[in-house]
Amino acid sequence: MLEVNGLAVAYGAIEAVRDVGFTVEEGQIVCLVGTNGAGKSTTLRTISGLLRPHRGEIRFLGRPIHDLPAHSILAAGIAHCPEGRRLFAGMTVEENLLLGAHLRRDRRVGRDMEHVYDLFPVLGERRTQRAGLFSGGEQQMLAIGRAMMARPKLLMFDEPTMGLSPIMIKQLLETIAMLRSGGTTILMVEQNALAALTLADHGYVIDLGRTTLSGPGKELLADQRVREAYLG
Ligand code: ATP
Repeated sequence: MLEVNGLAVAYGAIEAVRDVGFTVEEGQIVCLVGTNGAGKSTTLRTISGLLRPHRGEIRFLGRPIHDLPAHSILAAGIAHCPEGRRLFAGMTVEENLLLGAHLRRDRRVGRDMEHVYDLFPVLGERRTQRAGLFSGGEQQMLAIGRAMMARPKLLMFDEPTMGLSPIMIKQLLETIAMLRSGGTTILMVEQNALAALTLADHGYVIDLGRTTLSGPGKELLADQRVREAYLG
C-alpha cells in the first residue's frame, strides 16, 4: 500500500532523514521505532506532504505522492494523527471531529461520528465540551477520533502513547488493533518500542535517519540489538 524508498529530508543544512525505506502492506500495523531525534516524526510529516524530500520516493497505492500537496495526500486516503495531539482547544469535541471530516462530501459523517462515540464513550458524554478541558488521555482519544473521521485507508500515529498512563496505553493499543480489524492500515512511530513492537505486524528500527533493522514485531522484540538499544 505504501512504499518508501531511499528517503532523505533536511531542515536547512540539517539532514534529519538520510536513507529511510520501508513498506506497509494493506491491513498491517507497521511500526517505526528509534530514539529521540532519529527522524521518525520527520518521516511521517514527509509522507503527509508537510515536508518535501530531497531524495527518494514515496508511493501510495502504486502512485508517487511525494510531490503532492498535503490536502491531496489526505484526499488520497492518508490521515496523520500528530505528536502532541494538535487539537483545537477552544473547540468542542464535536467541532474537532467535524474538522477531521472537512474534505468529505458523503452523507455518512454523522454515522461515523457515532462510531467514534461508540469507540470512546467518554467523548460522546462530553461532545459539547471544549477539548482544552480534557486530560491527556482524553485528548489523545479525540485526536484519534478526528483522524478516523477522514475515513483514511492509512492512518499514521506519531507517538500515540506519549504522556498516557499504563492503563490508557493498554486501551489505546487495543483501539489501534480494533481499527486494523475494521480494515484500516496503520503506520505508527513510537519511542515506546515494547508497546509498539508487541502490536506491530512488522517493525523497522530507525537510527540517525536510516532504517537499520526490520522484521516481524515479535522477532524484533527478541533481537538482542533491539533489546540492548531500546528496551534497556
Ligand atoms: P522525536 O521522537 O524526538 O520526535 P524523531 O525520531 O521523531 O524524534 P525528528 O523529530 O524527526 O525525530 O527529528 C529528527 C532530527 O531533525 C532531529 O535532530 C531534530 O532536532 C531535527 N529537527 C526536527 N524538526 C526540526 C525543525 N523544524 N527544524 C530543524 N531541525 C529539526
